[in-house]
Amino acid sequence: MHELSIVEGIIAAVKREQKRHHFRKLIRVDIGCNVFSCIAEESLQFYFDSATKGTSFEGSRVRVRRLPQEYECGRCARVFVPKTKAICCPQCKTGTECRLRLKSDLNIEALEVE
Ligand SMILES: [Zn+2]
Repeated sequence: MHELSIVEGIIAAVKREQKRHHFRKLIRVDIGCNVFSCIAEESLQFYFDSATKGTSFEGSRVRVRRLPQEYECGRCARVFVPKTKAICCPQCKTGTECRLRLKSDLNIEALEVE
């Protein structure tokens, strides 16, 4: 039930935005995630639809935008997106101490509202 907990997180985040910006209806929400934590857009939409039935979020669209994988250098703390398959810090040129930075969760990137 991984998707369901993600959807609950999305709904809670959209509700916070709604409180702040006072919109009536949600049309679209864009979620950003990096590749490893990514889940299928269709199943996210399915859970979102059933969780928002009868609310002001009903019928809105969930889009997933895949973010580039960021690495952090363990030596100089530089954050970078590798351009080739070989992971190498562009600043100090070390390859062995670079780690993938995982975003803690899915982030809301954009909202379309009415
Ligand atoms: Zn470095």
